Amino acid sequence: MLHVVHHADYMAPPPERGSFKFDKYQLVMILLRESGAAMTEHAPPPMPRDWLAAVHDPNYVDSVLAASVPREKERRIGFPVTPHIAQRVQHTNGGTWRAAHLAFQHGFAANSAGGSHHSLHDTGAGYCVFNDLAVAANRLLAEGDARRILIVDLDVHQGDGTASLTAGREAIFTFSMHAEKNFPVRKARSDLDLPLPDGTDDDGYLSALSQHLPRLIESHRPDLILYQAGVDPHAQDKLGRLALTDGGLERRDRFVIREARSRGIPVASAMGGGYGADQRVVAQRHANAMLSMADENTRWPAPQQVQARR
Ligand SMILES: [Zn+2]
Repeated sequence: MLHVVHHADYMAPPPERGSFKFDKYQLVMILLRESGAAMTEHAPPPMPRDWLAAVHDPNYVDSVLAASVPREKERRIGFPVTPHIAQRVQHTNGGTWRAAHLAFQHGFAANSAGGSHHSLHDTGAGYCVFNDLAVAANRLLAEGDARRILIVDLDVHQGDGTASLTAGREAIFTFSMHAEKNFPVRKARSDLDLPLPDGTDDDGYLSALSQHLPRLIESHRPDLILYQAGVDPHAQDKLGRLALTDGGLERRDRFVIREARSRGIPVASAMGGGYGADQRVVAQRHANAMLSMADENTRWPAPQQVQARR
């Protein structure tokens, strides 16, 4: 059973400026529904303003919610922040938080958006407005839902925003494995960064991941893994520089679920990056990721109830 968080606001009209495409968010849901796989859709609550402002500069949060973000910040984000986008990002941030709660219950749940790992304290960047990973992690810790969280970021781009927004927080460990020569040019410092050379293939990628992830889970002992499952390490991705195949991405996603769930740790995934001329192809990669993770999750018993873990 795939538990997926989705909201009609995840779709947005094509932006007036910039090249970002929102089509894939609708296409992913269509492909998931057409797949015939067992699936339950859950609606996210909008992330309240104060939880966004607990991580981001309150003035920046208010400018997004009022759709009055200065033009130079919109340029860094890559599209204009309209009233629709303002609503959308509250829902995508609520979606990752909701997926975490579903993961505590079912072992795995996916947000069908989010993974906005480039958002910084007082500005968005690289198609990211608010950092749902940092916002959700902070709220889950503050409300006592988790004591320690591991953020695993396997998008092809470094999780620079997540690293800088959670720097110095011992309860949050950030791990980013990415293409060294890709955006952002100036990298932040995650708790563990694993930069990969251009053209890294399935075996090189999986061998690096298997050297580090089990060890990190053992040493950090998280109550939850937030997984940024970007599909842009794919060889055909327009913005990636790595050379993973469909099969390589599937091995990666199943490995993350297996390493977490075999130790009783729930995983909530956020969609992350994926780019190409044909949005249907990109959406299929995201849909495949969610389906294979949900399938892998069925091999493990559901986690103990939240009450029992405390
Ligand atoms: Zn990316």
